[in-house]
Amino acid sequence: MKLKIKANSMREPPGGHHFTESGVTFTGDKFEEVVNKLTLFRINNGVALGMPAQDILMRYAKKWPYLVERDFSVEETKPDTNLRERWSKWIAKLWSKPPKSLISAKEAKPRWDICKDCKFNVDLDVSDSGEDGQIKRRSFLLRRGQDVPDSLNFCSFHGMPLDVGCLLENPGDFSSAPPGEKYEKCWVK
Ligand code: SF4
Repeated sequence: MKLKIKANSMREPPGGHHFTESGVTFTGDKFEEVVNKLTLFRINNGVALGMPAQDILMRYAKKWPYLVERDFSVEETKPDTNLRERWSKWIAKLWSKPPKSLISAKEAKPRWDICKDCKFNVDLDVSDSGEDGQIKRRSFLLRRGQDVPDSLNFCSFHGMPLDVGCLLENPGDFSSAPPGEKYEKCWVK
């Protein structure tokens, strides 16, 4: 069962949104700020990522049950396209073991310049809310908040979201391109 902050609730935990782990207390004006801080803390300290938002919500449920409710939306079956499914699975896989380091924007720029005009760079047209919004938020965290060009979408050849994939040191390790097939203009080794 998944939880979420109760809709339209104007109430907050006593002392504001916060969560303590390993002796560190993460605070924020909004619940999402605490989630982001806990996520980055786990990534930066090599701690198993787990499900930061759900970990906080479980604590809230025990201490302040009036703040949370069951999230039925994530249990609905959604009509996913194949590419969207690949996008979702790619992010989930990387999320379970985030990269310890990324290349810089300067290093990534030659990659961006090739991908932006590539025929395999396709717009998935996913939503900013619900499960899609959650995946986008994970992308943002996986790329450590780095700004990337809007022209980067999803690589349908490697099955890889380009906003994160272009920043990986070895993106070929995360490619689902057909075995033995190469695209001669591609920079991925
Ligand atoms: S095939 Fe290569 S160059 Fe083309 S979008 Fe994918 S990663 Fe970029």
